[in-house]
Amino acid sequence: MQETMVHPSEEVLIRNWEELLRKYYKARLNEVAIEYPDTRSLVVSYWDLDRHSQGLAEHLLEFPTAVLAAAQKAVRAIDTPLPETPRLHVRVDHLPEQARVDIRELRSKNLNRLVAIKGLVKRASDVRPRLEDAIFRCLRCNAAISEPQDEFNTMKEPLQCYEDQGGCGHSSGFKLLSEKSRFVDSQKLEVQESPENLRGGEQPQRLVMFVEDDLCGHVAPGDRIVANGVIRAVPKKQGNAKSNVFDIHLQVVSVEVETKAYQDVVITPEDEVEIERLSKDPTIYDTLVRSVAPTIYGMEMEKEALILSLFGGVEKRMNDGSRLRGDIHILMVGDPGVAKSQLLRYAARISPRGIYTSGKSSSSAGLTAAAVRDEIEGRWTLEAGAMVLADRGLCCIDEIDKMTEEDRSAMHEALEQGTVSIAKAGITASLNSRCSVLGAANPKDGRFDTKYGSIAEQIDMPPALLSRFDVIFPMTDKPNAEKDAALATHILGVHRAGEIREYRGKHGDQGLYTATDEEAAMVVVQPPVDPKLLRKYVAYARNNCYPVLTADAQARIRNYYVDLRKQAGGEDGSGPIPLTPRQLEALVRLTEASAKVRLSNEAAMPDVERALRVVEYYLRKVAGDEQGLFDIDKIASGVGHSQRDRIHRIVIIVDDMSRGNDEGAHVDDILAKARTQGISDEDARQVLERLAHDGRLFCPRPGRYRKA
Ligand code: ADP
Ligand code: MG
Repeated sequence: MQETMVHPSEEVLIRNWEELLRKYYKARLNEVAIEYPDTRSLVVSYWDLDRHSQGLAEHLLEFPTAVLAAAQKAVRAIDTPLPETPRLHVRVDHLPEQARVDIRELRSKNLNRLVAIKGLVKRASDVRPRLEDAIFRCLRCNAAISEPQDEFNTMKEPLQCYEDQGGCGHSSGFKLLSEKSRFVDSQKLEVQESPENLRGGEQPQRLVMFVEDDLCGHVAPGDRIVANGVIRAVPKKQGNAKSNVFDIHLQVVSVEVETKAYQDVVITPEDEVEIERLSKDPTIYDTLVRSVAPTIYGMEMEKEALILSLFGGVEKRMNDGSRLRGDIHILMVGDPGVAKSQLLRYAARISPRGIYTSGKSSSSAGLTAAAVRDEIEGRWTLEAGAMVLADRGLCCIDEIDKMTEEDRSAMHEALEQGTVSIAKAGITASLNSRCSVLGAANPKDGRFDTKYGSIAEQIDMPPALLSRFDVIFPMTDKPNAEKDAALATHILGVHRAGEIREYRGKHGDQGLYTATDEEAAMVVVQPPVDPKLLRKYVAYARNNCYPVLTADAQARIRNYYVDLRKQAGGEDGSGPIPLTPRQLEALVRLTEASAKVRLSNEAAMPDVERALRVVEYYLRKVAGDEQGLFDIDKIASGVGHSQRDRIHRIVIIVDDMSRGNDEGAHVDDILAKARTQGISDEDARQVLERLAHDGRLFCPRPGRYRKA
């Protein structure tokens, strides 16, 4: 048992530290001394302690407070240009595996021990001074009495006017002399378990941490860190009484911020061989598509777009500091029950740093970020929302149309620039949210109807936000005998596989079904590439692959863009607008992503063709105009060109017929006139209703319209 370890004497500890520092850290200590007080930390690696000194390493984990205090004293014993009593911290980092504890595993045995906690910074408060060494004036004899403070919230007053400090020995009240007292910067962090380590659906647990002095202000919400520190307990407050149940927090000794993306995804040499092999396979795209949510039937194009989004385009940082995003955002809009949520959940699992959340999430930070007030201390705290936590990953947002007003306005920046800016209550900050978004939205009226109008009209999202999605998939659930049969067969097969597995889980080999039966049934749901390997594949490609478009590929995209715009724009430029530069950029990103799947540094013609297939597929579905032309206005303004044209004409007709006539024009007359201009009665009625609804036409009496 660990308890048997004997507390070492302070002398021995100081001697050991002195020896170690003199031998291995003299040069570093001198550097720190010269930079002091700008630098106030000497960072010592645990491995040096372990290798070069007897006992220090083991004792550090058990008695961190004593061992670190001894280090401080040892520093003073060494001859350096430091002042007499420097505020120099000796910080130990890179703790061994045995010191690692998951937040949810923390128990009373960890109290006062040194632990390494890995997690994601959810909240960071502003930096405030904390009283460290208080000087009080005795109200009776005026002596100045010093009383060191601990890190907790309450101020400790002297018990009496200490005689050994020249005081009177009474306790008749004290007054804090704040200008004589010493303060230290302090910041409160809340760290939560990394989503990777959670089993599906579990809520991450959090731990409060305090960092002090030079560690303040170095981590931001959304950062992935390993915090090394001492677990402390404070009694929970119950009114004025102290409870005997304690809250814990971490008093941080050192912080390691993850600097390289996907450090948490471990790729072995064997994995690498397997990934390289897969990337050379000519059917790799198909293989990957079949590996996405095999329980979901069909949706190949959606799944392919998702694969491309996982690999992502190339993020470009320009010399002028601007950034062109590589993230590919996908939105699925559609009828209930078409497996949107199912696909989102799966996507979050196969993406490194994948997060699944809902637009109406209960967290105060929502999808982006927020400045919130700490309930207990009243400090302002910056809290990361889902997109910040998913930085460099995939953020799957279900019911995205239900997001809050604040998120809605922050979302524009988050999607395009990959940052979330906060300016509130004196906090100004910009957090990174460089993630791809996979959103799902339900139509306003429950069902999607391509006949009725554009996407923008059918879901509750502003067109400006919609236009930031690279790909938008409308998903309708229309009866189709052939497809329905295939889908039903598939779903039944999935259920059967699950049934047999459950049955065998209970009865084993004794029952009706053999292992071979189970295997045969499972074929339908077996992904050709295992989700774990797929995550590694994606991380590997994202870390190592930076494709550049070939001249051919560039020319193909340019011509496609120019042709489509020319063909649609017409002579006078009044035709529908098929594509905007946003779609052009989307094409580039999809093309790059396609090259990354092959681990190729060259984005070539086949990649462009793949990207074009995805874009055409969705444009035809969303923006397909009556004449078969793409009309991006249907997304952007909510009104297609030919529809807009119709609206325009009807307004003129009504205006003409109702001028000087307060009664308004009769609907039959309007329809007759519209017919002469080639507008069907049905279309004309629809436009009239819409204009009246929008308040652009006025109905003085039923069946009569005039201009409002
Ligand atoms: P949505 O979020 O689109 O409303 P869900 O993801 O909740 O739909 O799916 C509803 C149910 O229907 C799920 O159990 C899902 O597995 C099933 N389902 C719908 N479409 C498919 C499909 N194409 N293949 C397999 N299962 C499907
Ligand atoms: Mg759903």
